[in-house]
Amino acid sequence: MIVAIDGPAGAGKSTVARALAERLSFRYLDTGAMYRALTWLAMHRGLDLGAGAALAELARAEPVVFDAEGRVWIGGKDVTSSIREQRIDRMVPVVARHTPVREVMRERQRELGRDGDVVIEGRDIGTVVAPNAEVKVYLVADRDERARRRMADRPGIGADALATDLRMRDEKDAERMQPAEDAREIDTTGLNVEDVVERIEALVRERTAA
Ligand code: C5P
Repeated sequence: MIVAIDGPAGAGKSTVARALAERLSFRYLDTGAMYRALTWLAMHRGLDLGAGAALAELARAEPVVFDAEGRVWIGGKDVTSSIREQRIDRMVPVVARHTPVREVMRERQRELGRDGDVVIEGRDIGTVVAPNAEVKVYLVADRDERARRRMADRPGIGADALATDLRMRDEKDAERMQPAEDAREIDTTGLNVEDVVERIEALVRERTAA
């Protein structure tokens, strides 16, 4: 079974998807981490982030690897923490908007999601990567709440800078952020992680029973 969890930055996708995967003993695939790792490597090598074909080639030559501990590797380097830096937050939509890059990434995401049960989080999972996913969820939260959550993830960055970054990322990601028509939307604003996980778990059980 595939559980697709989509939604904007700060809606709670990663926390919820990880907890859900653990609860259900499903694998967990973070597609945002893949775009982040590619962005990290492209910047590390000084590539032009406007050059879609070259970036797609890089994505093909240096596939992102998740190890058994869930750490993220690219080009032989453990980039688990570096991909969460603010400079990556800012540049990743620039890399992710190239169609050839998305084609390579989506192919790899389908490959990684193929065997067994998996929770996949991203922006276009329910619409493009796994349109046949048995359970599709679209998480949202109001912008102030999303900015507050980001502050907890990014200590040391000012509230105004974070709010601006979030708004700019929303704008750049907008075209990829349409919920699938058959996705269940959950507003996580007033909910804790446990509540959201339980709601999705109920959808999984409903689906399994059917
Ligand atoms: O989810 P996360 O914040 O880690 O995603 C980082 C960025 O990667 C997003 O802002 C978006 O630009 C891109 N992304 C995407 N498609 C996905 C997952 C992430 O374009 N499936």
